[in-house]
Amino acid sequence: MIIYKKESDLRKWIEGQREKGTIIGFVPTMGALHQGHLSLLKTSKENDHITISSIFVNPVQFNDPKDYEKYPVTIEEDISLLEENDCSLLFLPSVNEIYPQGTQRIRNYDLGNLENILEGKFRPGHFQGVCAVVHRLLDIVNPDNLYLGQKDYQQCMVIRQLIKLVGLDGKVTINICPTHRDPDGLAMSSRNKRLSPSERNLAPEIYRTLKWLAENIKTGDVNALKQKGFDNLNEEGFRPDYVEIADARNLETVHSWDGKQQIVGLVAAYLNEIRLIDNLILN
Ligand code: AMP
Repeated sequence: MIIYKKESDLRKWIEGQREKGTIIGFVPTMGALHQGHLSLLKTSKENDHITISSIFVNPVQFNDPKDYEKYPVTIEEDISLLEENDCSLLFLPSVNEIYPQGTQRIRNYDLGNLENILEGKFRPGHFQGVCAVVHRLLDIVNPDNLYLGQKDYQQCMVIRQLIKLVGLDGKVTINICPTHRDPDGLAMSSRNKRLSPSERNLAPEIYRTLKWLAENIKTGDVNALKQKGFDNLNEEGFRPDYVEIADARNLETVHSWDGKQQIVGLVAAYLNEIRLIDNLILN
C-alpha cells in the first residue's frame, strides 16, 4: 500500500491514474478503524479499480475540544488493517496539509435546515467542519465513487448537499453502506473504544430502543412513542440528546405518521462523557 502525507504527491499520482482511465473509489475516515470502515473499503474494492482511504482526525468538526483530544488514534493498527484489506493507497495528511491557511478561515456552506436539526442542533459548527474537510479531500482525491456509512445518516445528507453546492454532482457518486454492528446490535464506532466494560454492556440499549420504535410505531401521533424511547434511555443511565422519528428523505420531524411515508428513527445519547449515535429505518 502506498502512503502519502503530502497533497502534491497524491495529486501527481492521481493524475497518472486518470490518464490510464482508472476508476477511483474513496473512503474517508478519522482512523481507529473497525469492521464498519472495512466494509466500505470492501464495497469499493468490488466496484472500483483502486481504493483510496484517508485518515485525518479533523479538528474543525469537533464542537467539544475534549472529544477531539480524546479521539482514539491507532495509526499502526490502522495501516496493518488497510494493508490486510488491500487498500491501494492511504492519504495521511497533517492538519497543516489540509488547512494551509489555518483552521479559522473556513467558508460557509449553505446546508439549509440540515444544519439546525438533530446533530446540527446539538453540535453547532460540526457539519461546517465536515464540509470543509470533505470538500478539501474531494478536491485532492477527485474520486469517481465516495463511500459513506449509514451510521452517520445526517452526515450522508450533508455531503450530498455539499456535492451539489460545489458543483460535483454527476462527477462523484455517493454510495451509502449499511451500518455494521457488533453481535449485540451496538453500531461499530471508533468512540466505542473509549467505553468502560460497564458502559459497553449498556450501550446496545440504543439499538434496542430503535428496534422497539420500529416494532411499536403505529399510524397517527408518534410523539408519545419518541418520549417513551427517550425516557427509557434516561432510566437506563444515558443522557439522551434526542430520540427522533423523521422523514427518511429529508430528516424533517414526523409528529404524525400516515403509515406510508418512509421514516427513520435517530438517537444520540451520552454514556457518561461518550456520545453515541445510531439510526434505523423504521418501515
Ligand atoms: P469516521 O472514521 O467515524 O469518520 O467514519 C468514516 C466513515 O465510516 C463514515 O462514512 C462513517 O459513516 C463510516 N462508518 C462509521 N462507522 C460505521 C459502521 N458501524 N458501519 C458502516 N459505516 C460506518
